Formats: sequence, structure tokens, C-alpha cells
Amino acid sequence: MAKIQTPHAVRGTQDIVDEAQNSFAHVVETFERVSKVYGFAPVQVPIIEQTSVFARSLGESTDVVSKEMYTFEDRGGDSITLRPEFTAGISRAFLTNGWQQYAPMKLSAHGPLFRYERPQKGRYRQFHQIDAEIIGAAEPLADIELLIMADQLLKELGIDDGVILNLNTLGDADSRDAWREALITYFQDHKDHLSKDSLDRLERNPLRILDSKDEGDKKLCQSAPIIDDYLTNEAQEFFGQVTQGLDAAHVRWTRNTRLVRGLDYYRHTAFEFITDRLGAQGTVLGGGRYDGLIENLGGNPTPAVGWAAGIERLAMLIDAPENSGPDAVLIPLGDRATETAIAILSDLRRHNIVTDMAYKGNMKKRMQKANAKNAKLVIIMGDDELDRGEVAIKNLISGEQQSCKIDAIVDFVKKS
Ligand code: ATP
Ligand code: MG
Repeated sequence: MAKIQTPHAVRGTQDIVDEAQNSFAHVVETFERVSKVYGFAPVQVPIIEQTSVFARSLGESTDVVSKEMYTFEDRGGDSITLRPEFTAGISRAFLTNGWQQYAPMKLSAHGPLFRYERPQKGRYRQFHQIDAEIIGAAEPLADIELLIMADQLLKELGIDDGVILNLNTLGDADSRDAWREALITYFQDHKDHLSKDSLDRLERNPLRILDSKDEGDKKLCQSAPIIDDYLTNEAQEFFGQVTQGLDAAHVRWTRNTRLVRGLDYYRHTAFEFITDRLGAQGTVLGGGRYDGLIENLGGNPTPAVGWAAGIERLAMLIDAPENSGPDAVLIPLGDRATETAIAILSDLRRHNIVTDMAYKGNMKKRMQKANAKNAKLVIIMGDDELDRGEVAIKNLISGEQQSCKIDAIVDFVKKS
């Protein structure tokens, strides 16, 4: 018979185990705790959506929509896309469920996302985000609250050192249109030096050029017109309130006039928390205001603001929390002992005591196993002890060994 070929993991996907899993879980737990403190309600939205949910809201000419989406036709002939981000799906849910009546809503989510990208450190095809959105709030207070929460999250994860909040405003529609015209003129004049991708962007979406990762483009962008010269008074006022709020809460930020985000829906505030510790994948958290998105999905104009952060990138920056070992490991010696051990093991576990059993190999092997698991106690059960209705309990931290009546084991372990 021909040998069966072992399947391989899909390129850009990861199996997350051990330390990486500990770090991953710690990021999620910290996010859940902090977002609760700020009054955000957790939601779950589908991993699959109609393709139009993303195509309409992210913008047809963005990298995500034009090159990175996992889109397929399902058996019923509908065009379905694996979500590349949360915001569009949450906005769709807002409309589907008639949540307008509850606005402003503070929502949080986390889970897997899919983008067809070139995999490298910190960049995967299946990755995970934590995400926070405030929908139905036009006030700069919403932007401020989200930024303070992001800042606190990074501090609680212990990675605020070396991570800088880059802040920009993209202005309102009028500011943006005027800036856009100026950018087109500027890049037209320097057409010969633009990358092929950016020449295409110049036609379709010139703001995108500012987000280019091409070195030549980046250089050109340094002298490109900045939004400040085109901001309306209203837009300037809005941005001023955001920065004042951050200052009042002692959140450190720096102005980055060239910051635009990878998606089309942003207005006013745009921001990224950037680190120099992850090479090219330095953006750990990004977001901004997306007042136009819900209208693009066919809803009434609804102001909103939010951010998302890559869990893998955050997890790479933190020290993995130590795995705490079991409270006790049982070592039964012989068939009779094994039967009693099954009863004791389930009794301990029903008392929510973290317990395991080492049932393979000789005594030495099993002790090594208990040590490797970082257990506090080992409960050794030989026939002689059992005949007396007892077990031997060894404390692996102090090295002390004591005998204990079988019906007193739960109390003994609880007190240790
Ligand atoms: P980048 O410029 O690095 O491609 P982006 O602007 O496409 O990022 P967003 O859409 O703003 O990223 O997503 C928010 C965060 O999600 C990013 O800051 C990053 O931490 C994370 N992220 C985005 N794409 C990936 C990916 N392919 N793999 C891992 N994390 C990612
Ligand atoms: Mg990207």
C-alpha cells in the first residue's frame, strides 16, 4: 500500500501551544478585564460574512479588499468572505439587530481573522485580534476613552515601554477632499519616482500612498503636503479636544502627520501604537474614527470609533506567565492501588483541586514526571500503606514526607 502523505499546516497558520499559548491567553484575559472596567460589552460576530460587508466598508482599492481577502462562493452560490477585521462585521451586526436604540454602544470582541498576506514574523494568514468599538458617539470623549483604555491595556501587559502612540487627524470630509487634491498634485509632479503600486493608488486612492511600505514611496511621502494646512476649523477643534483629553489623563502621544490607516473608512482621529521591537511589523494596535462606515453599509449616518490589536504581536512582547503546576500528583503502585487512586483522584478534582496522576513507568520515572509538572505534592500509594488505610504524601517544595488517612486527603491537600 502506498504510504499516506501527511497533510501540512496551511501556510501562514500556527498551532499555538506552551509558552506562546500562555502569553496569548494572558493578552486575552487582560483585555477582557480592562475592557470590562471601561464598560464594554463583549460580543461575538460570525467569522463569515457576505463579501459586500467588507468590500463596501473597507474600500475596494485597499490592500485588504483588493489582495488579501479569503473570498469564496458557497454551495448556494453566495459570495462569502472570511472576516479580515472586526469593525465591518460589528457594524453589520449593529444594523441587523437594530442596536441604534442603544447607541452609544461600547462593544468588545476577540478572535481569528484571515488575510492572504506574505507570512513572516508577526504577520500570518490566520491571526487574532482584540477589538474595541464605540458606535453612535460623535463626541471626542469616545476617542479619548478608547485611547486611554488602549494605553492602560499596554501598561498592564507591561509593554508600554518602547511603544509610542502615534496620533493624527484625517479631518472631516471637506478637509480630506482638499488634502486629497493637494496630494494628487504633489504625487503627479513626482510620478517618475513612485512605485508601480502607488501609481495605481494615485488613480484610485491617493491617500493610500502615504501608507506604502515601498522605500522610494516613503521618501517621497516625507515632503508630501500634510493635513494641517487643509483642516477646517471644526476638524481642528475636534482634534484639539482629543489631544487635551489625552493630556488630562497623562497619556503620552506623538503627532505623526503622515499616519493614514490601511482602510478607507477613517475620519478625524487616526492612531497607531508602534514599537521598534518587532522589526517591520511594529504596529501593535491601531484604529480611529469611522463616521462614514455604517452609512456605506446602508444604515443611517452613525458616528463611531474603535481600535484593534494583533494578539500574536502583543504576545511576542510580553514575558509568558509561568504555568503553575498541579496541587498534587498521585502515584499508585500496583493494580489495587490504581483502583483506589481513581476514586481519590476524582474526589480531589470534584473539590476543584488541580490534580493529576502519574501511572506510567517505574517509581523514579513517575517522581520525575511530578517534578517536571511542577507539582506541590505527590501522593504515593503502595499496597502496605493502603492496607493501613493510608497514603504517603511528599511535599516537593520542603522535601518533607508524611502519612495521611485516605479520608483526610482532601483536607490535607487543601491546607498545604
Ligand atoms: P500592517 O500595516 O502591519 O499590515 P494593518 O494596518 O493592516 O497592519 P490593521 O488592519 O489596522 O493592520 O489591524 C490592526 C492590528 O492587527 C495590527 O496593528 C496588527 O497588530 C494586527 N495585524 C494585522 N494584520 C496582521 C497579520 N497578517 N498578522 C498578524 N497580525 C496582524
Ligand atoms: Mg496590513
